[in-house]
Amino acid sequence: MDEHIEFLKSGPLSLVKRWGAKWSLWPVHLVTACCGVELAHAYACGYDGERLGSLNYGICRQTNLIIVEGAITRKMAKVLRITWEQMPDPKFVIVMGACGLNGGLFWNGYHMVKPSDVVPVDYFIPGCPPTPEALLRGIRALQDKIMTGETNSTAKFSKADLSSIIEIPEEIKQKRVPTPPHSIAKAPVIQIDGQREIEWDEGANLIQTLKKDLEGLYISIEMTDLNRICLKTTPEKTPEIAERLKFTFDHVKSVNVVDVPNENKFIIEYVVSSYGVKDLMPVLLSIITEIPRDNPRHPSLAKHWPSADYMEREMHEFFGVWFEDNPWMGRNFLLSPDTPEYPLRKDFKLPRETYVLRGDSR
Ligand code: SF4
Repeated sequence: MDEHIEFLKSGPLSLVKRWGAKWSLWPVHLVTACCGVELAHAYACGYDGERLGSLNYGICRQTNLIIVEGAITRKMAKVLRITWEQMPDPKFVIVMGACGLNGGLFWNGYHMVKPSDVVPVDYFIPGCPPTPEALLRGIRALQDKIMTGETNSTAKFSKADLSSIIEIPEEIKQKRVPTPPHSIAKAPVIQIDGQREIEWDEGANLIQTLKKDLEGLYISIEMTDLNRICLKTTPEKTPEIAERLKFTFDHVKSVNVVDVPNENKFIIEYVVSSYGVKDLMPVLLSIITEIPRDNPRHPSLAKHWPSADYMEREMHEFFGVWFEDNPWMGRNFLLSPDTPEYPLRKDFKLPRETYVLRGDSR
């Protein structure tokens, strides 16, 4: 059997085999991030990737190429590996996008995995996102590599010497990089407290109504912008506030946690709005409380606003805030099991990556 495989690999028919593989690159659909849009573009009618003998397939067992389209997270890394394992040989991997190379705009994020740590990569295509032309060029490069018989090796770059082509005038060579001016513009005034001038008469009326309906339950209710109201209160009063508001402000848009380690507190924010009352539809009401950082517990409002449930679970896993009465507390719901605990806390540290520049570093 081995000699037959060897015969196909290096015998007189190997050229035909490689030629066939070259023009039959079928990437499996594995859209992992926004780079996928550029892949779609490369295979749409404008660039027509199919004319290069490459066509996207839906089933990994009939494909021989994975194009990793951008970011790979811890959860997705498993899927990438399982997909790759199921593909028949010979198989190839192209990684497109800065996220797949080194994390891109999520660089050093707790959730990022380098695809090259999971599967052997043939070509990397840099860019954010890379253009369809760049992707097609990557496919052409892979085709050339298939014809030479190399597989699963990493990309090699040769050093280009452009001095014979480009002549740089002496005065430009002498020019130094300009240093930035010490001050570019006056620092803007940031106003945290105090009243801003906002023209929103309905908002003033709404605040009066809220103050009447929620008497004794709030610390302050203020207009922060057009269609924006901020209600400050204490955690134990939030269930009663939710109970009274749930028919007018009928859903939670987001639950947010702000970590303030130097004051040993978390700020909890529920942003609520209305689908049912037309005049309230554009209004966002933020309900804000503070809880101690060393015992971060807050009543769950999911009983009053079911749409808060999912977001409370998220905030629990990211920050370790315990939303009392939410049955999902303490369970792993969103992050993969090997994710470090509470990764969005400000004191969370990733192991430091060190880069060493070798050779001529001028
Ligand atoms: S490289 Fe840019 S375009 Fe591609 S997945 Fe990352 S952020 Fe999106």
